[in-house]
Amino acid sequence: MAEPDTRSSSGSSSEGSRYHPEAIEAAWQLRWQEQGLHRTPETDGGDEASGSGDDTFYALSMFPYPSGNLHMGHVRNYVITDVIARVQRLRGRRVLHPMGWDAFGLPAENAAIERGVDPGDWTDANIAQMRSQLQRLGLSIDWDREVATCHADYYRWTQWLFLQFHEAGLAYRKEATVNWDPIDQTVLANEQVDGEGRSWRSGAKVEKRQLRQWFLRITDYAEALLDDLDQLDGWPERVRTMQSNWIGRSVGAQLHFPILPAAGAASATAGGAADAADSDHSITVFTTRPDTVYGVSYLVLAPEHPLVARLTAPEQRLAVEAFCDLVSDQSELERTAEDQPKRGVPLGTSVRNPFNGEAIPLWIADYVLADYGSGAVMGVPAHDQRDFVFARQYELPVKRVIVPEGAQEQAYDGGAWTAGGRLVHSGPFDGLEAAEARAGIVALAEERGWGEGKVSYRLRDWLISRQRYWGCPIPMIHCGSCGVVPVPAEQLPVELPRDLAFSGKGGSPLTQLESWVNVACPSCGQPARRETDTMDTFICSSWYYLRYSDPHNTQLPFERAAADRWMPVDQYVGGIEHAILHLLYSRFFTKVLRDRGLLSFDEPFQRLLTQGMVQAITYKNPQTGKYVAPADVADPSDPRDPIDGERLDTFFEKMSKSKGNGVDPAVVINRYGADTARMFILFKAPPEKDLEWDDADVEGQFRFLQRLWRLVDGAVARGLRLNHAGGPGTPPEAVNPAEQALRRAVHGAITAIDDDLAPGHYQFNTAVSELMKLSNAMGPQLETAGEAVAIEALGALVILLAPFAPHLAEELWDRLGGDGSVHSQRWPVADPSALIQDTVPLVIQVKGKVRGQLEVPADADAATLERLALESDIALKWLEGQAPRRVIVVPGKLVNLVP
Ligand SMILES: [Zn+2]
Repeated sequence: MAEPDTRSSSGSSSEGSRYHPEAIEAAWQLRWQEQGLHRTPETDGGDEASGSGDDTFYALSMFPYPSGNLHMGHVRNYVITDVIARVQRLRGRRVLHPMGWDAFGLPAENAAIERGVDPGDWTDANIAQMRSQLQRLGLSIDWDREVATCHADYYRWTQWLFLQFHEAGLAYRKEATVNWDPIDQTVLANEQVDGEGRSWRSGAKVEKRQLRQWFLRITDYAEALLDDLDQLDGWPERVRTMQSNWIGRSVGAQLHFPILPAAGAASATAGGAADAADSDHSITVFTTRPDTVYGVSYLVLAPEHPLVARLTAPEQRLAVEAFCDLVSDQSELERTAEDQPKRGVPLGTSVRNPFNGEAIPLWIADYVLADYGSGAVMGVPAHDQRDFVFARQYELPVKRVIVPEGAQEQAYDGGAWTAGGRLVHSGPFDGLEAAEARAGIVALAEERGWGEGKVSYRLRDWLISRQRYWGCPIPMIHCGSCGVVPVPAEQLPVELPRDLAFSGKGGSPLTQLESWVNVACPSCGQPARRETDTMDTFICSSWYYLRYSDPHNTQLPFERAAADRWMPVDQYVGGIEHAILHLLYSRFFTKVLRDRGLLSFDEPFQRLLTQGMVQAITYKNPQTGKYVAPADVADPSDPRDPIDGERLDTFFEKMSKSKGNGVDPAVVINRYGADTARMFILFKAPPEKDLEWDDADVEGQFRFLQRLWRLVDGAVARGLRLNHAGGPGTPPEAVNPAEQALRRAVHGAITAIDDDLAPGHYQFNTAVSELMKLSNAMGPQLETAGEAVAIEALGALVILLAPFAPHLAEELWDRLGGDGSVHSQRWPVADPSALIQDTVPLVIQVKGKVRGQLEVPADADAATLERLALESDIALKWLEGQAPRRVIVVPGKLVNLVP
């Protein structure tokens, strides 16, 4: 806050006042809060013409998990979003810039198990702590719209939305594999299983178990999620590619291979095939290479395929069961990793290739997954490298059916031929080019009922069930007579019971809470049981950005008009680690809610910025492999391990607790203030690049802010006040070259910073450089400029600074006597006329010889030109202090000095 204004007259000491961020930042934060400066301006009814959202701007940061500790990665994310929000406000847009908490999840439950605290209390305390840490950064967040996904007024609507999915047939139950801890008798999350497949808590070898669980049918939207990536040209190309690969569209065919009766095979028993995707009589495979169908030499089922038991020959039963056990211990990643050897076992039975009538042996192998495609693939060793390796290992036939154009059939030692060519040994398709044959083979399959053309996706349905306590309860009830019955919407929320005992054993505590589990069936009134699974927290974060548009609605998750007014998010900012799941799920939610008539746009996030990591200097002992905290390194120019004196390896790595290289934002703010921390983070690297922490550069930004302080301090001491000029919008008349140069510097900076801040461009680092250049240029020029030009320059400088260093800018604005808050001003508009270089070169001759050149105003008269020539360094040097006898002026061209 400004000191009393008396100091401007008495402040004649050469030092002036000094920049003390701690004295101004908290005070301005309090003032802004009292003034409601960051409250979101709502539209009133009369402003419906702007329903298109032209004058609204939605700036959104990915909301954090409330761990209780704000780290530098958070700071970078939120400062970037804050600058974007502040610039848009200064440009006159109505801005929504909210913040909330992704507050369900495992850590709270672990804290409950380890320390006996209530997960809700623990989470709320963390939220309070992180909120106050965030507030110290001076972020222009509308805290009135804060949401926490773990509070019933939020998760009530998460449940309501789940019911929408259920009603649309997009939520269903099926068997799926879970990690089971046999000692604690509980289901584990993937992150609770270590690299060796052991429980984080009991150390037991984790088993795979089948449980009926809830899924969302995201595969119904695979095509739309892929196609609409084309709309997202405000997203990084890399993120769109990652999404596209994750959805994984492939065009091919599904083919049916009839099962051959085998004397020894177990007879088809009822029941076992009830869940089978295939008919009882054939195995269906998906292939992108129907042109190789004459080269199939074996068929592989996933070990979990429902037909495996039925199709296993008695003499293979032991081997098959042993193999299935072995595979059940492996993770999906291990099973499908490129560098892992593939293993398999024959079932001892066969299918028939409908195209050539050949009997094809059936195998199971670890690399085929049950829930991907039909859980069965055809093996074509001659034309697929993985199949080739598998066939060589198990001595299966390799049948070449495609030869490269113009080549003879050759030996197969080189591996599989995966490119195109012409078909051989392929019946009626011999001689056809592969792509041509593909179409013909699919057509034949469709004609004969052997299969059909099909587009397949890698994307699988979303398993949302968690056998955990600290999550949003799935609002379903299991009734003996009615089956699965949704909780009626008016009975929501299904509240999470609090104050439970957590042992970490015996499954989710919800399953043991009889008073909560036992409930009357909403349909028939008979005793029934609640669903005890809670939802994947990714569900809670798939719609939070919609709730911010209407956070206090008690009738609906959000009103359609409110969502449509603010959405889609104009600028989303967050980490690349969310490039796939969170963004894909949010896009899926948006499309489903659109189809339910709850909103009217296709995509939630128009622009996406994925900020780089914050890295810091990291020391590692090459002998022990241990990290040494930078604080323990005595001499950074010769870094040594304090324990054994070993010279340490030095590099930059992402800040983390385990490496001891983290920089606590609070420490930096305490020392330099939030504005310096913000300036450094913005200046050090372009937002999407990794940033290397550097104390010297932090110090440099602090000194820059001090210089700005002194610059304004000097102006204030000279009596310059922003409200003395003709007011904003009236460009002052520059009268002399110094004033012209000052205006050129100011308007040049506005132009450059405008370009740096253009949506999607966001080169904050060069924008800060421009501010530094401008302040350097202003220093001397401000002294000589007239009041109007000086005030224009000062006003522009402080407003340009405002998005980056909001506290200092507000303080300087206040000291300069500006009206209102600097953050409520209008962004300066570059004056193109100020940028015109209206000077011309003037040749200086001495006794008729050219001795140099001057830049002079284009319209200077002869007397001015004579004066400028005589005052020049050139005259000083060549006349050696003597006055010339004669001066010849040729206006616009030259001045000849004759001594
Ligand atoms: Zn019932």
